Amino acid sequence: MEELRLVIERKCPYCRRQVYSERETKAILYGSPIRSCQCGKDYLDIRYHEIALTGIEPESLNIRQNIIILIFIIPIMLVTVMAFVQNLPKLTAFLFLELLMIIAAVWDMIQKKNGGNFRQLRAESEARLSNPDYVHRLQAAGYCIPDRMK
Ligand SMILES: [Zn+2]
Repeated sequence: MEELRLVIERKCPYCRRQVYSERETKAILYGSPIRSCQCGKDYLDIRYHEIALTGIEPESLNIRQNIIILIFIIPIMLVTVMAFVQNLPKLTAFLFLELLMIIAAVWDMIQKKNGGNFRQLRAESEARLSNPDYVHRLQAAGYCIPDRMK
């Protein structure tokens, strides 16, 4: 089986087409690390984590970003509330939006604290790994496969 080549400088190792931007270099993604280029070749992108093999990256459960959002939004929300009670009903939509952002940030934080909601991604990962051809390709690419999956 042909060994998969790794992305070099964000470019497809076969046709040198750019496959992701510089901004996305440090992204932690979940899915198959075997990606397909528009040129028809498959390459290896190790930004993608095969969750059933490698688990959840600690960075994905980091709540730093949620806290930053809350630190910014809560004071803005308080100002909006004060303006609102001084009879500025125009701000209703704005207030509603801020409230939604706070709820979303808190909800995401709770999810992360509970180990994240990765059920769907894990199921997809398990499904891919139930294919022996796929497992062989990963193994050829240097991935460690537990015996029960071989
Ligand atoms: Zn290519």
